[in-house]
Amino acid sequence: MRDFSYLRADSVEAARNAAALPGAMLLAGGTTLVDLAKCGVAEPSTVIDISHIEGLNAIDVNSDRAIIGALAKMSHVADHAAVKSHFPAVSEALWQAASAQLRNMATIGGNLMQRTRCPYFRDPANFPACNKRAPGSGCSAIGGVTRGHAVLGTSEACIATYPGDLAIALVAFDAEVDLGERKLKIEDFFLAPGATAEQEHDIRPGEMITAIQIPGSAAARRSAYLKVRDRQSYEFAAASAAIGLELEADGRTIRDIRVALGGVATKPWRARSVEDALKGKALDEASVRKASELAMEGAVDHGANHYKIALAPRVIARAILKLGETA
Ligand code: FAD
Ligand code: SF4
Repeated sequence: MRDFSYLRADSVEAARNAAALPGAMLLAGGTTLVDLAKCGVAEPSTVIDISHIEGLNAIDVNSDRAIIGALAKMSHVADHAAVKSHFPAVSEALWQAASAQLRNMATIGGNLMQRTRCPYFRDPANFPACNKRAPGSGCSAIGGVTRGHAVLGTSEACIATYPGDLAIALVAFDAEVDLGERKLKIEDFFLAPGATAEQEHDIRPGEMITAIQIPGSAAARRSAYLKVRDRQSYEFAAASAAIGLELEADGRTIRDIRVALGGVATKPWRARSVEDALKGKALDEASVRKASELAMEGAVDHGANHYKIALAPRVIARAILKLGETA
């Protein structure tokens, strides 16, 4: 870990000005940044502590929309009564993320900015080849151990999985990220690797996340997040699904459905082909299982992660059918 300067920002403007300095990095809860600095992946010249900026931890939710400040803690959002009732998938995704201690420290802005858990990315001493860390150096994972790696959105440069949970629910419900002068659809905020694996987020020097906004909808109100993983807690997803469901008055025809996937792609992955196949159709097990398979169109595995191609459609189908039972 190299020496760095510490600067405490008391306003968004001060934080943004400081963030424009070369090598500057924002510090919110510190649960990702400190880890990355310790293992030599993040080498900030200046750490800008934004955790004391007032007014950025507000959680303002009604049936029309949720506005959640970037400094709101994961645990507060997960436990917020209006989030639970209007956006249950958001609450469930947060509850199933990390551990209680981490959720009490970690912020919503920091959560969106977390980096991949690819073990080669986090071990520069033993694996110098990593396009995400050192552009043009190659990819140690391709040809290495790939059990946790992505099958969707990969490129020849990088196959690292997007690790977070919250963003999967946000992508399902068309959330926006507020960067001050720019507001981005959350789907556009996350970048697939292509030839530029080092760019994971569309965020520029001098920008910071101040809030996220999620539009309310009937599908968001009847929503759920299902996370399948190697152990039941404190583990990243092998495959996960955020689902929202709105049925017609007959109680069985699908009027609106949202499907987004985690654990299997290089970015939070909206499965529109599944949604399109189910809209207007009856909610029955055979149709749901058939449609769920569409999510894996174009999937490419690297051996040990082949199981994800079979697992993800089952996770989607299970989540939809379980949600349908509550109709
Ligand atoms: P920080 O560590 O302070 O910052 C993280 C990054 O975001 C830094 O690059 C920082 O510069 C940047 N940043 C922070 N705030 C802003 C902002 N407002 N605008 C722009 N940039 C900003 N997450 C899951 O979703 N699911 C899991 O299962 C999960 N398991 C975990 C297990 C472990 C052991 C650990 C350590 C983490 C796990 N996480 C998981 C990730 C965790 O959720 C993140 O570490 C946390 O959300 C980061 O928030 P923070 O406030 O601590 O960010
Ligand atoms: Fe680096 Fe991506 Fe390859 Fe992992 S998969 S080693 S993050 S380039």
